[in-house]
Amino acid sequence: MTSASRSTPTIKADTAAREAVAAQSAGRAGGYCWVEEKGGGYSCTLRPAHGGKHYHFYSGTEFD
Ligand SMILES: [Zn+2]
Repeated sequence: MTSASRSTPTIKADTAAREAVAAQSAGRAGGYCWVEEKGGGYSCTLRPAHGGKHYHFYSGTEFD
């Protein structure tokens, strides 16, 4: 579940950031709201511009 590259030094941070951006773009392109939960662990899998709380389908997690 968690990123395997989290404890690697700074040179990897840029790569991780790029991957996060790429993943977010992919989620949005896939027709998801894709707002990230504040802990960063989940992205909303509801449709864009839905009402109410965000929701991560795969873990069943609701978040604001
Ligand atoms: Zn959402």
